[in-house]
Amino acid sequence: MRLIFLGPPGVGKGTQAKRLSKAYCIPQVATGDILRAAILKGSAEGKEAKAYVDAGRLVPDELVIRIVRARLLEDDMKDGFILDGFPRTKEQADALSQMGEASRIDRVLYFYLDEETLVSRIAGRRTCSKCNEIYNTDYRLPKVKDVCDACGIFLVQRKDDCAETVKERLIVYQKETAPLIEYYQKQGCLSCIDASGPVEEVARHVTDICLVMS
Ligand code: ADP
Ligand code: AMP
Repeated sequence: MRLIFLGPPGVGKGTQAKRLSKAYCIPQVATGDILRAAILKGSAEGKEAKAYVDAGRLVPDELVIRIVRARLLEDDMKDGFILDGFPRTKEQADALSQMGEASRIDRVLYFYLDEETLVSRIAGRRTCSKCNEIYNTDYRLPKVKDVCDACGIFLVQRKDDCAETVKERLIVYQKETAPLIEYYQKQGCLSCIDASGPVEEVARHVTDICLVMS
């Protein structure tokens, strides 16, 4: 199963991608996680990406496309994958479609949610900078306050999850990424998912689509 998870920041793509990745034993390729890891490491790619990520803007297409192209060729991608947060521009979508058999996509799952709820979910998001697990101060608390269940380290609030940057990210999403809804609809591979319910309910919608495909 080769999937793209499309939707605005905070809609729950990462949360659902992690669950599905475990259930189907396929990798979740989250470009945001990859870029944050590169920034933390201080690699050349991280240095190039940092200012864009911090400002809530999109990292240049060329860099993200290079990262995804290399990742798609790795061994663990052969039996399927979830692209989470890529593509985010028409240029990235076009580049993906030209990456050959390795980039063949079965379905694009578009998650939608009203802006007020997006903002509130992002405000409550806390993440583990080691394993990238996603928590929420209202909806998904760790067993021990502010500590990752799996890694035992303190959870962090992403720098780009502050109110000002979120505003910018939502504008960027509408301008650059939302046009991909029509892009994939025209190709006949888009499924729309109402992301407003609890995590389990959204997960059922996702599973229903995957069952039809398999
Ligand atoms: P995205 O990857 O689309 O940016 P995340 O998966 O990181 O979104 O989710 C954003 C925040 O919303 C996280 O704090 C997560 O725990 C929370 N969340 C995700 N799905 C739901 C849901 N269905 N109901 C309530 N909170 C959710
Ligand atoms: P995310 O973790 O998906 O919320 O992404 C965090 C940030 O990483 C975004 O605001 C962008 O700065 C950057 N980013 C992630 N994916 C992409 C992409 N496909 N294209 C450009 N920038 C990206």
